[in-house]
Amino acid sequence: MISRKINKNYLDKIIQKFKKVNTAEALAKQAKRIKFGVVNLANKIEYKEIFSKTAAKIKNISWKSPKTIGITALALAVIFSGCFYFSATTPAVGIVVNGKNIGYAASKSEAKQLVQEVLTQQGNTAGTVAQTSDTIEYKSVRLKNKDYTGPVSQDVLAKAITPYVNGYGLQVNGKVVVVLASEQDINTLLKKYEDYQTKPSKNNTVSSVKIVEPVSKIASKVHPGEVKTVDAALEILVKGDVAETTYTIQENDSLWLIARKNNMLTDEVIAANPGFTEDSIIQPGQKIKLVQTKPYLTVRSEGTKVVSEVVPFDVVSKTDRSLGYGKSIIKQAGKDGEKAVTYSYVEENGKMIEKQVVKEEVVSKPVNQIVAKGPGRSIVYVGTSRGSGSISGLSWPISGGITSYYGSRHGSFHTGIDIDGVTGQPYYAAASGTVVEAGWDGGYGYCIMIDHGNGVSTRYGHSSKLLVSVGQTVSKGQNIGNVGSTGNSTGSHLHFEVIINGSTVNPLNYL
Ligand SMILES: [Zn+2]
Repeated sequence: MISRKINKNYLDKIIQKFKKVNTAEALAKQAKRIKFGVVNLANKIEYKEIFSKTAAKIKNISWKSPKTIGITALALAVIFSGCFYFSATTPAVGIVVNGKNIGYAASKSEAKQLVQEVLTQQGNTAGTVAQTSDTIEYKSVRLKNKDYTGPVSQDVLAKAITPYVNGYGLQVNGKVVVVLASEQDINTLLKKYEDYQTKPSKNNTVSSVKIVEPVSKIASKVHPGEVKTVDAALEILVKGDVAETTYTIQENDSLWLIARKNNMLTDEVIAANPGFTEDSIIQPGQKIKLVQTKPYLTVRSEGTKVVSEVVPFDVVSKTDRSLGYGKSIIKQAGKDGEKAVTYSYVEENGKMIEKQVVKEEVVSKPVNQIVAKGPGRSIVYVGTSRGSGSISGLSWPISGGITSYYGSRHGSFHTGIDIDGVTGQPYYAAASGTVVEAGWDGGYGYCIMIDHGNGVSTRYGHSSKLLVSVGQTVSKGQNIGNVGSTGNSTGSHLHFEVIINGSTVNPLNYL
């Protein structure tokens, strides 16, 4: 294949040779043809100027010598090989990314546009046009027609170019947790997260909100895919970080105690350690895994809440000698009242840390239940009262994290909640009532039980010290004992039970 390049000097040489030869009729015709072909070609290509000049020079040649035939034939061969080259190849622009040719476009402007389109598309998810630090060069070339199959595809180009966008990282404790498009987006995110955790409403006036962790916003260059929308970022913050830590078993540890120490459930400790069961024997020094989900941010809020609470009715019994021995009838059905309780609180991520009643307003008074009883043996109440089972305004006996919840635990049933505390820390009566138990009670250790009337009572286990005695009347919030670890306990905490008509219930439904 002939593929010689025509350049200006080469054409001038040919023209010089043409000038030396004599005219011939046939040769003149050929020359006209050459001129026609050359002008046609010149119109098509960028060497137009050169060819026009050449054509003009050819026109002025006097064709006299027979030698011209040979030289013209040579010239023709050269010119046609040039024509062939131009018609068999096509101009293109190579897109070279970091020194590597990725593909071609028809022109430099098309090549630049292709790159721009890719960056626009890559930046789309981040709501902007991406940029790149790659070195992109555009090189003009001629390609054989069969080798140029059109401009490089977006996919190929996108794979070759590494894009970045300018985002803003939300940094918590020095670690970037999520990247957003702008500083304003981060502010919106933090506000949304605060609202999510504090849930302000007409019954919940949030007076102060603070994010506990040190938070900063930093401008950063990131891959466009890393930039999150505010809503997607909120989801990440709400889900929290899954942190895996290693725990070394201490002397006298149990799975339950490890869970307690780490504010986890025993089941969660077991789940993180394949092969573990409730009955697994653990050895001091042994290392186990703890997998916990921890929120990235803690929102500490203060405010006041107004909640509607039930005022339980009282049961009043009257002796009616007209009734049979041991019989009783309800003369008047009791009806619970309602009160609006305003309390001030301190919460962390929606969990109550401190709670104090500031106002109580009776919305509707309870109606006593009146029971008429026939004559009978006087009943000795050893346990607690029975009644409607209505609970009104139980307050937390101590503030602290719950280290074990009500429900199934190690194949048995945990009849209360365990609240974290230190030995000697005072705890308080959840409501007013009468002390029906104060002393050692097996697994409960030193234990207090208070009858609040209406069939409701509360129990406080593992005390280090008891400050009340049986028969004593106590008021809500009165310091009745101190936290300890007596009885079946492996660490200082308060075991707190709520009992309704003799059965324990989940205290969290009543606090
Ligand atoms: Zn307990």
